[in-house]
Amino acid sequence: MFTHVTRPGAIGSLQVANRLVMGAMHLNLETLDDGGAALAAFYAARARGGAGLIITGGSAVSPVAAGGPGYSHVNDPAHHPALRRTADAVHEAGGKIALQLFHAGRYALTDGSGLTPVAPSAVYSRFSRTTPRALTEADIRATVADFARGAATARALGYDAVEVMASEGYLINQFLSPLTNLRDDAWGGDAARRRRFPLAVLRAVREAAGDDFPVLFRISGADLVPGSSTQEETDALAVALAREGVHALDIGVGWHESRVPTVQSAVPPGAWASYAEAVKKALCAAGHADVPVIASNRVVGLDQAESLLRGGGIDHVSMARPLLADPDLPAKWTRGRSALVNVCLACNEACIDRSFGTERVSCLVNPRAGHELAFPEQAAADPPRSFAVIGGGPAGLEAARALAALGHRVTLFEADEELGGQFRLARQVPGKEDFGATARYFAAELARLGVDIRLGRRLGLGDAGLLRHFDGAVLATGVQPRIPDIPGWPLLHTLTYPEVFARPETLGERVVLLGGGGIATDLAHLLTGERTPATPQAFLAAYGLGDGPVTGPPTARHRLTLVRRGPRIGAGTGPSTRWVVLSALRAHGVEMVTGVRYREITTEGVVVQGADGAERLLPADSVVFATGQEPERAAVPALRAAGVPFEAVGGARDAAGVNAVRATAEGLRAAHRL
Ligand code: SF4
Repeated sequence: MFTHVTRPGAIGSLQVANRLVMGAMHLNLETLDDGGAALAAFYAARARGGAGLIITGGSAVSPVAAGGPGYSHVNDPAHHPALRRTADAVHEAGGKIALQLFHAGRYALTDGSGLTPVAPSAVYSRFSRTTPRALTEADIRATVADFARGAATARALGYDAVEVMASEGYLINQFLSPLTNLRDDAWGGDAARRRRFPLAVLRAVREAAGDDFPVLFRISGADLVPGSSTQEETDALAVALAREGVHALDIGVGWHESRVPTVQSAVPPGAWASYAEAVKKALCAAGHADVPVIASNRVVGLDQAESLLRGGGIDHVSMARPLLADPDLPAKWTRGRSALVNVCLACNEACIDRSFGTERVSCLVNPRAGHELAFPEQAAADPPRSFAVIGGGPAGLEAARALAALGHRVTLFEADEELGGQFRLARQVPGKEDFGATARYFAAELARLGVDIRLGRRLGLGDAGLLRHFDGAVLATGVQPRIPDIPGWPLLHTLTYPEVFARPETLGERVVLLGGGGIATDLAHLLTGERTPATPQAFLAAYGLGDGPVTGPPTARHRLTLVRRGPRIGAGTGPSTRWVVLSALRAHGVEMVTGVRYREITTEGVVVQGADGAERLLPADSVVFATGQEPERAAVPALRAAGVPFEAVGGARDAAGVNAVRATAEGLRAAHRL
């Protein structure tokens, strides 16, 4: 069935076992003080899982090239043991690995380093919030040499290839764009001169590493920034690189400053494949059909990869986050076990959002990602014990899975008739439909592991006798909504957020949502009636790309007002996603009110008081409380009475600021501690 994905391929002299590439992703494991152990274990697991080629996260070619403090530095000998260990581990696992050579240019996050970012021209960046220093002629030549040295070093360290990062708005992409390259010397001006830097880098890299050493370039299929490079210029770059002997082109899209979402869950899978196909077409037309093209971004499942490859418009498919979520994704699909694939939600919460800082990258649905050594999953040597997991939401599901994977006997008690907890609320929100797939994955995985699942079973004080039979327990009963003390609330139709998720049709026309955190914005998004674009064409058309029909927003059933006491709506939502959600709410006319006190609820609506002391009525037919949460701990007396050692996780431990990332991570940790 997967005849195209599983076909061996070649990138220059590099033979790969299949057409699935793990795309580059910065992990913040690169500079841990562990000699590269965690980094090596992370990539080795993905190689074992079946990725044909792994491309590492970017390795900076000079100190100022790093995207942030957690980047590896290929030209710094202090980083070589970890880089070598990583390549060796992937080879031992039967995989192939390319090192990505990286220069962030004006996107370098240099806070506290004493370095000033550099770029072709001194053009302010909204992403890094700095104005870089323009490179001199000598700097440019030195930077070309840095790339060359990096390639030769990668080869010496045992890497099978290098990928030069020239996409996503980083340094080489900045040379290519008329927006960021304002030079009028030999390195800027018309498109041919803007192409000179990447071509110089390719030439120098090939010379330094040897013509037989495979070199991939990741280029931008579309910058998605008005006024940047045209399709013709992209095609011309691809052809020019092919002429200079590039061995493969990996096609990215978008800059960090772009206002078109590229990797968020609002983007339908496969949305960007046509940009990779366009590059391949340009190569074929110029007689370079032999240069393989890799399609990247929003490729989610192996079925989708197979269908893209079958279409013949590209040669390899790249996935990054789906392999964080499930390192064994390729093997599971090809062995007919796709129901056991832990699906990436494109939430970015534990991966991309962290990669911009210093926190270790992991995964909401797979908290072992990046922690493979800390949480080994072979069955414990001790005799298996018997555990109760109380609660079948994110924390309880992961705790039950991890305990069972360690060989223990696990019984999971869930009060509802269905597993999933907050995943079941989230799956109703536009763009979050895949949270339903997560609940299905856990159900299938727990069944495979033999977990005894008791649905519709809310444990209370009378269950101490039952609990006494277990060796330990995990309390993962989640949260219940907190109702703020506002005078007059029985006067109007008031509901809590779970009640609205369960029965949104009960709301009146004018709705005031109190609370502006992630749950409130999710609920507002649901109530706009928006639907995730069903096809790549519909998505692209909505952003003025492609030529699909544009559909207007649905007729709104509600007039929505989001009210928050704090200064920011959606605080707590990650930076890569918050702007997408807020843009959607604004497009649907949702009013947002911040920095107020809730004074009173009347028959007319909600009275709020601004910072200036002025009071204002927000008219409402219905008021929804999404104003925080309290731990749900009704099972604690029974656990205490039974004398069973237990650990509380997720919202049941601490409801303040809890989210699914923290919940699943605590579920995993508890399973390994008990
Ligand atoms: Fe995917 Fe979210 Fe996991 Fe990142 S954190 S890999 S986006 S599920």
